[in-house]
Amino acid sequence: MAAIMRAARQVVSALGPHALRDAPAGRSLHTASTGGGKKIVGVFYKGGEYADGNPDFVGCAEHALGIRGWLESQGHQYVVTDDKDGPNCGEHSITNLTFSLYMASATSVTLHYTRVAAELEKHLADAHVLITTPFHPAYVTASRIARARNLELLLTAGIGSDHVDLAAAAAAGLTVAEVTGSNTVSVAEDQLMRVLVLVRNFLPGHRQAVAGEWDVAGVAHRARDLEGKTVATVGAGRIGRLLLRRLKPFGCRLLYHDRLRIQPEMEEELGAEFEADLDAMLPKCDVVVMNMPLTDKTRGMFDKDRIARMKKGVIIVNNARGAIMDTQAVADACATGHIAGYGGDVWHPQPAPKDHPWRYMPNNAMTPHISGTTIDGQGVKDTLERYFKGQDFPAQNYIVKEGKLAGQYQ
Ligand code: NAD
Repeated sequence: MAAIMRAARQVVSALGPHALRDAPAGRSLHTASTGGGKKIVGVFYKGGEYADGNPDFVGCAEHALGIRGWLESQGHQYVVTDDKDGPNCGEHSITNLTFSLYMASATSVTLHYTRVAAELEKHLADAHVLITTPFHPAYVTASRIARARNLELLLTAGIGSDHVDLAAAAAAGLTVAEVTGSNTVSVAEDQLMRVLVLVRNFLPGHRQAVAGEWDVAGVAHRARDLEGKTVATVGAGRIGRLLLRRLKPFGCRLLYHDRLRIQPEMEEELGAEFEADLDAMLPKCDVVVMNMPLTDKTRGMFDKDRIARMKKGVIIVNNARGAIMDTQAVADACATGHIAGYGGDVWHPQPAPKDHPWRYMPNNAMTPHISGTTIDGQGVKDTLERYFKGQDFPAQNYIVKEGKLAGQYQ
């Protein structure tokens, strides 16, 4: 039996990601398309019944960003799937292989194996462009990058490329680009909605309405006005600034923290004060909204200690990335009431498992990852058009170019 298991292990290791990762390197750095018909692979969430008869719903796999006809008319191949995490993906493949072993005789062994791969895996080897989204993230690991020998461009249809191993992409000479600004409005509007929903204590009132109840006190005892509150954004890039603009008419005191200070004229226009020291800013805030990318510096930035420094009864909205927060610290602070309400659409990991504590913490306004994927917030065609023509993208769209990560990711 030990010999059978040894044989099995050899087959596994021959099939496994390490063998693939050790394949000879030879990909050269590139920033633009090498020409010719390309294989484009897109990974999007399934639209199902909601896709039927709704051609404007282009973010789903069925409508595939609405670019199939355009791509195919130019001689490119476009493969689209929602199947990104088959049981045999990435670094975990060995534990997930399905085996059946049959003893043919005492001296010879026939080994049958079933290798169940995600649809994405089947197309990685010869794909030139991989389009992914943060909403249904295909995790582009180092081992996947090593297998994708023809890959030139990793294009994020949205903002936030933390589902890509950026260091591995840089080392492999891949370009990683986003459709910068494509959903700024969608996310800022959603954040404003979540701030209001939590400050006004809307959700229990809605639940009462649906459940046939009527208990004004059950809502009113913790409902407040937004006017007069101190609201801060941590990160004041495209979304953070637009949120400040949208908040201005509400008569709040507006603060922001960022690694870079906004130009004085714009600061004045936004009516927001810069706070260089995050920890000095947080105790002043009634509402804090996260608006920075997930990077090595922001991962786990809001841990137990930092949350403890925030004002008791603070409301937090995080549509940036779940892993910026310490998951359990948030759940614990919601349980004690130190955080009076937590809302957002980003989790770690995604999709969030059924037992993710943020599903069950009190006063949460959580949803699946939806804020940046409205019907109005899309746009990939222009980036691909430039890629086919061998043109550069707008500078702000690059996350990895010529082996280097964009400033805020370094
Ligand atoms: P942006 O690049 O315009 O702005 C990011 C800002 O964060 C910049 O001003 C940058 O200086 C600041 N920043 C970066 N690292 C920082 C640090 N360590 N400390 C303080 N500030 C830091 O990006 P954006 O378009 O405003 O998007 C922000 C993030 O929102 C994205 O990276 C993405 O993770 C998230 N997002 C989520 C959705 C969604 O659907 N939930 C959609 C779009 C974007």
